[in-house]
Amino acid sequence: MTDVSATEETTPRFSELGLHPLVLKAVEAQGYEIPTPIQAETIPTLLSGRDVIGLAQTGTGKTAAFALPALSDLAEAGRADDGPFALVLTPTRELAIQVAEAFTSYATELSDFSVLPIYGGQAYGPQLAGLRRGAQVVVGTPGRVIDHLKKGSLKLGSLRHLILDEADEMLKMGFAEDIEEIFSQVGDERQVALFSATMPTSIHRITGKYLNDPKEVRVAAKSQTGANIRQRYFMVQHSHKLDALTRILEVEEYEGIIMFVRTKQATEELAEKLRARGFKTAAINGDIPQQARERTIDMLREGKIDILVATDVAARGLDVERITLVVNYDIPHDTESYVHRIGRTGRAGRSGEAILFVTPREQRMLGSIERATKQKVEPLTLPSVEELTSTRVEKFTKRIDDVLAQTELSELTDVIEQYSLSRDVPASNIAAALASLVLESNTLKAEPMPEPARRQGRDRDRDAGRDGGRPGRGGRARDENMATYRLAVGRNERLQPGAVVGAIANEGGITSKQIGHIDIRSNHTLVDLPKDLDPSVLRKLAHTEIQGRPIDIRPDSGRPGRPFKKRNFDKQPGDGRNFRNDRRGGKKFGGGRGDRPRDRY
Ligand code: AMP
Repeated sequence: MTDVSATEETTPRFSELGLHPLVLKAVEAQGYEIPTPIQAETIPTLLSGRDVIGLAQTGTGKTAAFALPALSDLAEAGRADDGPFALVLTPTRELAIQVAEAFTSYATELSDFSVLPIYGGQAYGPQLAGLRRGAQVVVGTPGRVIDHLKKGSLKLGSLRHLILDEADEMLKMGFAEDIEEIFSQVGDERQVALFSATMPTSIHRITGKYLNDPKEVRVAAKSQTGANIRQRYFMVQHSHKLDALTRILEVEEYEGIIMFVRTKQATEELAEKLRARGFKTAAINGDIPQQARERTIDMLREGKIDILVATDVAARGLDVERITLVVNYDIPHDTESYVHRIGRTGRAGRSGEAILFVTPREQRMLGSIERATKQKVEPLTLPSVEELTSTRVEKFTKRIDDVLAQTELSELTDVIEQYSLSRDVPASNIAAALASLVLESNTLKAEPMPEPARRQGRDRDRDAGRDGGRPGRGGRARDENMATYRLAVGRNERLQPGAVVGAIANEGGITSKQIGHIDIRSNHTLVDLPKDLDPSVLRKLAHTEIQGRPIDIRPDSGRPGRPFKKRNFDKQPGDGRNFRNDRRGGKKFGGGRGDRPRDRY
């Protein structure tokens, strides 16, 4: 087994990993500077043809770790005639779409490339059409993949790469048999890459049985301390990060700040946005020549700028005493990088602050960081509207104090007095008018944050709260926007919450986020689902089975079981689309309509 970590001397460049030039070009266009540790270790191994077990969670760059070698091989070998070249199995529909999107972005230079996500809860027609049109990469949930294998619409005769993403989640959702069935249908000439955040024995069983001399790679979690650095995190969706950041910066005391983002483009974009909001900010990244980088760093040192937005590569070895705050705007790919990053503050024995933004999908990484730094990362509470407003008033008052204390104003005082007398306007009104000119606003009041970040279903699912808690009585859901449904399977069938989420999300075609509290009882289960649930979801779920038993979903009356009345569930067309690249790198969606793929972050 190999433990990998990001050390400056050993990290190779993408160009040194042996990727096909067309794939390399697409990766460079993504703005990635260096491979993440899991990529640096996994890509050459997969390119050499060896099977891989990757112990990696979301946020480590695992998707590119398996997608780039598969695409390189495809670019080399050319299109297969009979079925897909690569098959990726994912536990959920959302992940299938995300992975398909990632493949598309790494295949922009491959001509006529297409990838097809297939998952439960989506009508078969468009998927069948997508498969007939042919896709070099299919990304699917195991249940639906099996259905297509049975129908003969998916053939795995030409398959060269079988990839299991979030394998532990798939097993938790009860897909073990399906996965074994898929393995049994794939020829011997295939390479297997299995990624999993944890390694339960059920995974060892599969890897022992189906993988050929696999190399096990895990991102090392070396312990380090930054005892003089206070670490805090804030859970936020990507789209709300900038809002949250500006609020935090308004109340936080700091001298110099370094902010870390993932890509070169992101350094420029964030710096630009912060400048537009009045912060003295500059960006450094690996594309900027060393001398120019050093000049920018000197500006930070001298206080000409206060914020430096950087990639990990550009900030290596950076030593500026003035940095009192490190903001991890994007969470790093590994704990080693995190430790390097926060080490940019707290220099020369001073104390420092580190703030980490975590998106709901990246929660696991937070745990790894706590373990690696052997320190608790405290939750950060955003300043309230009142706090923000009073800080603004305080700062503005101080500006006035400073001007009054330091500047000779008698000439201007005369002008104002003149104005006040001639127009009969009180001095306070004139001062307010001038204040609005200075502030470019007539208020110092803060606006409330846009809707707070919600934790996602699959993440919530890991909490003990989801299973075993007491539901509301009388079939009433705990949240007024939810309604409770009853499933005819329970603890007697050894039902796990993951299987409930898997079945409802994949077969019903809703996101796991929409699934609320799950209460597993001995012979039935209560699940909270949105009140305004489209009837087509229930129609799709009407024939769903878990552990071979129909779930028999129905609204819960709060009373013991009653006969299930058949309902006339509306019909709704599903979506099926191939993500297709043309040579210009555009993305086309073939097939029917459907949700827009969710942001990766
Ligand atoms: P994943 O762990 O695959 O979900 O990837 C997490 C995020 O990291 C995604 O937004 C990727 O686009 C991004 N990413 C992957 N590899 C790199 C890299 N080498 N440099 C910068 N960002 C990356």
